[in-house]
Amino acid sequence: MHPCLSCGACCAMFRVAFHWMESDDSTPGGVPTVLTEKLDAHRLVMNGTYSEPVRCTALDADIGHYSRCTIHPNRPSVCRQVDASWEYGTPSPQCDKARLAHGLPVLTPADWPPPKPAVDARPKTAE
Ligand code: SF4
Ligand code: SF4
Repeated sequence: MHPCLSCGACCAMFRVAFHWMESDDSTPGGVPTVLTEKLDAHRLVMNGTYSEPVRCTALDADIGHYSRCTIHPNRPSVCRQVDASWEYGTPSPQCDKARLAHGLPVLTPADWPPPKPAVDARPKTAE
């Protein structure tokens, strides 16, 4: 299972701010405006991420056990930019900070399965 699906720590750690143009008021299929509040003249924030304790309103999680973003296809660009540590071969400071703050160990390369060998899917032909 992907480690994020049993985590959710970063969605309960950081302010999630983004340009208002990303909202579905402006961009079809964008971030649901109803789940946001105005931060300043140019930015919105996800509800729940600009107050203590931080927890995004779109998060469906028991942190450390189960986690889903309920607007995953429409989540803000900043959410897409947070990689899980070692998913792409390097540590992620935001991931590590969030996991440690929630009492979870940081991810290591061992948390990711090795890539499967390529399978030759070409149809067999008679010799
Ligand atoms: S803190 Fe890391 S492992 Fe947890 S949900 Fe965020 S990116 Fe995934
Ligand atoms: S929008 Fe989704 S990915 Fe972004 S902080 Fe909220 S729950 Fe997490």
